[in-house]
Amino acid sequence: MNSQQPASPAEASVLTDMFARTISYLRLSLTDRCNLKCMYCVTEDEKDGHLVKLGQDEMLTYEELLRVVRVAVEMGISKLRLTGGEPLVRHDIMDFINSLAAIDGLDDIRITTNGVLLEKYAQGLIDAGVAKVNISLDTLRPKRFAEITGVDCFDQVWRGIEKALAVGFSPVKLNMVVMRDINDDELVDFARMSQQMPLQVRFIEFMPIGTSTRWNTDTYMTSDEIMERFTNLGELIHLERRQADGPARVFKLGSEARGTLGFISPISHHFCDRCNRLRLTSEGRLRSCLLHDEETDLKGVLRAGCSDADIRATLLTAIQNKPKGHQMAQRLKEQGADCHGRMSRIGG
Ligand code: SAM
Repeated sequence: MNSQQPASPAEASVLTDMFARTISYLRLSLTDRCNLKCMYCVTEDEKDGHLVKLGQDEMLTYEELLRVVRVAVEMGISKLRLTGGEPLVRHDIMDFINSLAAIDGLDDIRITTNGVLLEKYAQGLIDAGVAKVNISLDTLRPKRFAEITGVDCFDQVWRGIEKALAVGFSPVKLNMVVMRDINDDELVDFARMSQQMPLQVRFIEFMPIGTSTRWNTDTYMTSDEIMERFTNLGELIHLERRQADGPARVFKLGSEARGTLGFISPISHHFCDRCNRLRLTSEGRLRSCLLHDEETDLKGVLRAGCSDADIRATLLTAIQNKPKGHQMAQRLKEQGADCHGRMSRIGG
């Protein structure tokens, strides 16, 4: 924490929260729909097909999203990430991204995708100025890919990764959610890939979110345990933190490696004290902590015919309500997982 005592609201500057953290990063979940059904992301009711996805009118329209982003950028947001669900499945997505890119003062737009449609959209994204991509990839084995995601399209995703590299995305980050006895036997293969390809391969601790729950204390692996698997592979060189690294601790596996390894440890080494994020869920709610269910309704405000000042006030309320930390490790010990948000609506 920068400060043990919360600042009084009067002292807090516009986009500084109650714990002196500067909030500069907005993540937009553009839709809760996805063309994959990853076992760690879907909830039980989604898997059984009982969950009704959001209707078009329940999601914010592109006009509403553009308005919110414009106001947020005027207030000090400088980095935006498009996520979902799968952001690339929303209709007319490139028109929206081109309009976003035209917002004055917004120079850093990134995207998180499962890669299924990346081969198709990579060049358009680069042309729009979206040059930083995170791609989810939890296995290098096509058959296992189909088991984890419910869709047999590993080759298509791999072509998307190759296309992202070919058209000049930088960095290209691969996100692997590590699950014991599901894909942890591939940790070494992923680490070796970072030696051969100019990628940042990131190992994400499996989070107990939603009612999905393949999560349990056996499937969950800490970053420290993941890192131990690499002790015989070569020297893990710790790299200095750069802004583009986000919450990851970044290493190089040997000085000759073309890429890097990142460890994202929201539970075992949480980064709440430097969290600069605000999330807008696909149903138009502001969520100030991924692992806390408290949210602020922005859609209701927008649809009540609000002014830009009302949007500013709602953004500020969400920021002022940002908790000091999620204490997930402690909560898990005391009462088990209790974060009910759906990842596809929150956007990760
Ligand atoms: N469809 C896009 C994708 O697959 O990257 C964006 C949405 S996805 C919800 C965003 C990120 O959340 C992905 O990197 C995914 O692996 C991660 N994620 C989803 N559920 C998770 C969980 N229970 N624990 C850790 N990461 C999770």
